[in-house]
Amino acid sequence: MTKPAVTATPSLPWIDRAGLDSLIELLCKLGYTVIGPRLQDGAVVLEEVQSTADFPVGWTDEQEGGKYRLKKKKNTTLFCYTVGPQSWKKYLWPPYQYLWKAQRNESGFQVSENHKELRKYALIGVRSCELAALAILDMVLKRGPFQDSHYQQIRENLFVVAVNCTKAGGTCFCTSMKTGPKASSGFDLALTELFESDRHGFLVESGSERGQEIIQQIPHEMASKKDMDQAEALMRKSAGAMGRTLNTEEVKELIYRNLEHPLWDEIAARCLSCANCTLVCPTCFCTTVEDSTSLTGDHAERRRVWDSCFTLDFSYIHGGSVRSSPKSRFRQWMAHKLAFWQDQFGMPGCVGCGRCITWCPVGIDITREAQTLRESERPSSKGRGGV
Ligand code: SF4
Ligand code: SF4
Repeated sequence: MTKPAVTATPSLPWIDRAGLDSLIELLCKLGYTVIGPRLQDGAVVLEEVQSTADFPVGWTDEQEGGKYRLKKKKNTTLFCYTVGPQSWKKYLWPPYQYLWKAQRNESGFQVSENHKELRKYALIGVRSCELAALAILDMVLKRGPFQDSHYQQIRENLFVVAVNCTKAGGTCFCTSMKTGPKASSGFDLALTELFESDRHGFLVESGSERGQEIIQQIPHEMASKKDMDQAEALMRKSAGAMGRTLNTEEVKELIYRNLEHPLWDEIAARCLSCANCTLVCPTCFCTTVEDSTSLTGDHAERRRVWDSCFTLDFSYIHGGSVRSSPKSRFRQWMAHKLAFWQDQFGMPGCVGCGRCITWCPVGIDITREAQTLRESERPSSKGRGGV
């Protein structure tokens, strides 16, 4: 009997920390503004970086519902944290952006639109769930019926360096949403960080021709079989260590069946309508438009700013707000993420990054609330909502 052929995983390029610095240097030379992780105000944030010295070297994080802490490790790993409070949407869909300005002159008003030259961004450290979030934003803002020219231009010039998560966070559930922890598409290069006492570096996978061209210009060696095996083992370990799970089986139908469930009242009694969950979410894209005029009457401008379905104003139409209670606003948010979004875009609006759980000041947890609804439908259940 012939044995089935065993296909070995092809080896990948390997770079050390100096190689990653060369990559950043090359991207800067090519005209990219390089954005990566930095420590600021007790959190890992996404800001401009010049080299890996700017990264959170040797820092990790601990996350739970309503809790985020940084912790120093004894090593010099660069990516041993999970997602922080900011997502990459702040560079593609800025929180504050002017649309036009008008200036009074002798002949009337001169109106200028936002023709500011857009920067070319290279993003370093994009996690797999965040690649899925970018794909969702693409669907809405790049390929949907209402395309945004600013988003499109930034997106087309983006260079994405993903990082596979070798550590799962306390509020992560990307395996449930099938968005991680390993990046499978949507990147130019993807790094897997390996750290041992005598060896620290990164396996580099190319996901595009541009990525392939760039890595050829960086000094590298080929990874050993031991490196490849170690990376695979770390991915398996991370996938098995998610802090949360969300059962997605018929979750849309579950939500639709329970729009009048008492659970919404119970959550509303805790929810502060602070909007943190929407601002940290990598897929929430709702905005409002603000106009302002100078007191002298010489200058006026219109700006687009992030908004949230948790504010009263967001659903204000002539005469009042459609969603006037915290209950209706929370239900709208969770039902949109897990149900309506599927009708609109054919996919859930949640990628399992866990940010809304970590940054909710009262620890409201989308995975637990969905599970409570599910359990309340079991014949013997008394459910948390009193049914
Ligand atoms: S809903 Fe929460 S877990 Fe899902 S993508 Fe948004 S912030 Fe992340
Ligand atoms: S669910 Fe939490 S984060 Fe979201 S608005 Fe309510 S209190 Fe704020």
